[in-house]
Amino acid sequence: MPSHVARKRFGQNFLVDRQVVARIVDLLALHTDDRVVEIGPGLGALTGPLVRLLDHLHVVEIDRELIARLLREFPSDRLTVHAGDALAFDFARLAVDCRGGLRIVGNLPYNISTPLLFHLAGFADCVRDMHFMLQREVVERMVAEPGSAAFGRLSVMLQYRFVMERLLDVQPTAFRPEPRVHSAVVRLLPRAAADLSAHDAVRFAGLVAAAFAQRRKMLRNSLGGLFDETRLAELGIAPTSRAENLSVHDYVRLANSLQ
Ligand code: SAM
Repeated sequence: MPSHVARKRFGQNFLVDRQVVARIVDLLALHTDDRVVEIGPGLGALTGPLVRLLDHLHVVEIDRELIARLLREFPSDRLTVHAGDALAFDFARLAVDCRGGLRIVGNLPYNISTPLLFHLAGFADCVRDMHFMLQREVVERMVAEPGSAAFGRLSVMLQYRFVMERLLDVQPTAFRPEPRVHSAVVRLLPRAAADLSAHDAVRFAGLVAAAFAQRRKMLRNSLGGLFDETRLAELGIAPTSRAENLSVHDYVRLANSLQ
């Protein structure tokens, strides 16, 4: 098979450590009839084992050269290749006739990981779980606690929709080419609809974005256009606190008070 020159613009760092592949596959605890979609199959490090364990696998890949390889390597009755950009892909389409919910996996392209996570959060309703390899620093932001420097918009928006767990740290030597950063595998489990208490999801997202757009400022300043100091205090929020000091529940309470 001809060798592939890794494309930086597609965030291509291919997993070559078989032990890491085996550990990820173990963590997935697959059943043959699970509905699974892999984002960015690349040269197939995960795709191969997944195809062997599942009745059928879907993948979403953007690189035409890699798409051609995948189509040559795997029979179409075992693998469906969706050619295109995962950032624009409608994952709900794959969950239509699947009772257990969609399982999404991938060693994600690190250059688009944050927008991709926001895009995927929109499909939480039809997802059973997600397992991703990401830059370790992104995983730290996802699972960060309020009050820590890593706690930000990504933490609030994802923790609102998912329970997340950092499962595995992975060294740069597990990839070719080696990335400059360390990596980690994270699991995301959607929260039950009943737990989502923001009355207006768009307003909630807007409020969180406004607070963190000026994260060094006190909330009485960054959110001054929405709440005066008295109102913040009434809602149990110290007007001198900063965006990173509020919990996810605090943001929900603030957003709901705007109704
Ligand atoms: N899964 C392979 C592995 O573990 O070796 C490859 C992982 S590599 C970090 C990321 C993969 O995502 C590449 O195959 C790349 O071409 C693909 N990719 C990059 N941007 C993408 C996008 N916007 N939509 C879909 N796939 C993308």
